[in-house]
Amino acid sequence: MATTERKLVIAGNWKMNKTRPEARTLAEALVAGLKETTDRPGVVVFPSFTSLETVLSATAGSACRVGAQNMDYRDAGAFTGEISPPMLTEQGVTHVLIGHSERRQFFAETNATVNLKLKAALKHKLVPIVCVGETVDEREAHLTDSVISRQVAAALNDLDAVDLGSLVIAYEPVWAIGTGKVCEAEEAQRVAKLIRGTVNNLYHKRDFADRIPILYGGSVTPANIADQLAQGDVDGALVGGASLKPDDFLSIIQAAKKRAAAVAGQT
Ligand code: PEP
Repeated sequence: MATTERKLVIAGNWKMNKTRPEARTLAEALVAGLKETTDRPGVVVFPSFTSLETVLSATAGSACRVGAQNMDYRDAGAFTGEISPPMLTEQGVTHVLIGHSERRQFFAETNATVNLKLKAALKHKLVPIVCVGETVDEREAHLTDSVISRQVAAALNDLDAVDLGSLVIAYEPVWAIGTGKVCEAEEAQRVAKLIRGTVNNLYHKRDFADRIPILYGGSVTPANIADQLAQGDVDGALVGGASLKPDDFLSIIQAAKKRAAAVAGQT
């Protein structure tokens, strides 16, 4: 499939950063810089829960969508401290990160909870960005491919392709997140292709596998984004640290815009 048929997505994960006034300032800078950006690439930011309403209001009417960094898979109940999908959709949140490695590492998320959260996101029409990635130990033990295939298969367990039209997958090698060690673009491409192949093996539907946007995440900066986007199976980026700096994030978006225009020009 030509890359043009998959939308490029640039996503910014703000993690546990920014008070509400700081989040407003960042969102406003982004909106100002996005003025001339159409929906190619798609842009979405993931502030903390406490800043969702602020960022939704600051980005209203712009090309920037707003997502949550996590959510519970249940709709309501005695689950102190949790946030449910209806609480997000009711505010205008459109996307949700599922299974980010920091959630898996520090908050006991498992492949099973990722699957439950993916089902909940689909039920509530939230666009899910499911994160997969190997640790440094797994990479050094040559387990990257089996870990990634297992994470993808477990996330999609018991789900039909027809229900997964909005699915986005982010390949985020854990050793590349927040470390400044970016994964070589050719290796990110190899793993992105492996993810697409895994989906195809699960569903035996090439069209479906070809339609899923696969993002790369891990120390993305304006200096390395073009190499990642030049790969045929990499359809954008999930950006952490650099998404907190409006100039850097806008440069990354600009690179994706250029890439989308170049690919469109080829067809
Ligand atoms: C992330 O938080 O998903 C991430 C990739 O972070 P960073 O870009 O800072 O490595």
